[in-house]
Amino acid sequence: MGLIRLAYASEANFQEQVGHGGIEPDITQILMASRRSNPKLGLVGGLYYGDGHFFQCLEGESDKVHALFNRICGDHRHRKVTLLFEEPIKAYAFDAWSMKYIAVETAIVDFLKSAGQARFDPFAFDADMLRGMIDLLSEEPDSAPSIATVGESTEGTVTLGRERAGLFAAAIVTVVAAVVVSGFLA
Ligand code: FAD
Repeated sequence: MGLIRLAYASEANFQEQVGHGGIEPDITQILMASRRSNPKLGLVGGLYYGDGHFFQCLEGESDKVHALFNRICGDHRHRKVTLLFEEPIKAYAFDAWSMKYIAVETAIVDFLKSAGQARFDPFAFDADMLRGMIDLLSEEPDSAPSIATVGESTEGTVTLGRERAGLFAAAIVTVVAAVVVSGFLA
């Protein structure tokens, strides 16, 4: 099985709201799930959301990318999921990103203007625009660096585990001390 890059477009099913860090709450949920799950499958990619449309690029082993794409197709948070592009690759363009997120206020707005498009409508992209969009997505900085990654949540769990172990040890010491004292008193 070789490496592939796949890109698709879709329409969001949710009403836009501004959530924590200026990011739509459904997108925060999607990014958290992606950043937790993609590294386990060796998958990377980038996601853009604008004007009610998603554009996502996924890279990885062909079978893993297709399995994730099938799962994404069944997600009720979007509709009209349309495969735009698929190609074999030798190297990742998104190798540092389990799922990079690019917000609207970026070079992509200038990119759309220069192509004479007032709104973000990836269904209307021709081959050049598609290639340009993938390049921009891979070059732009991540707009949601604070959304939890696997490393952060694992560290939290480890800390919690250590705290629990400490409490357990303290409880054992207390019980042993109580038994010793009651032995003396008897
Ligand atoms: P489950 O957790 O069993 O969920 C089943 C269904 O419930 C989902 O398909 C979805 O319709 C819904 N659902 C799940 N979580 C929520 C939630 N928090 N709020 C509302 N509805 C929910 N997943 C990845 O792992 N990697 C990605 O790169 C990725 N990119 C995505 C891009 C887009 C645009 C969208 C819409 C979703 C993306 N997802 C991604 C999420 C993916 O579709 C699945 O929800 C996720 O992988 C969990 O799969 P599951 O089979 O365990 O679903």
